Amino acid sequence: MIFRKKKEVLDSYSIEQCVSCNKTNKRKFKEGDFIFKTMEKCTSCANGQMMISKIFGELVK
Ligand SMILES: [Zn+2]
Repeated sequence: MIFRKKKEVLDSYSIEQCVSCNKTNKRKFKEGDFIFKTMEKCTSCANGQMMISKIFGELVK
């Protein structure tokens, strides 16, 4: 039996990073996301700004 790679599906994720404490948060990619987009205030240090630092795709298993 041969499994063809073409059927594999990519799921996209965005990594948010706090510019102050460097805390990262991985979440599902949302429409309109782009690298360096500023997000909500950091919930960890309370005054840092969360920013999207990386967007990538992962294979769905
Ligand atoms: Zn922070």
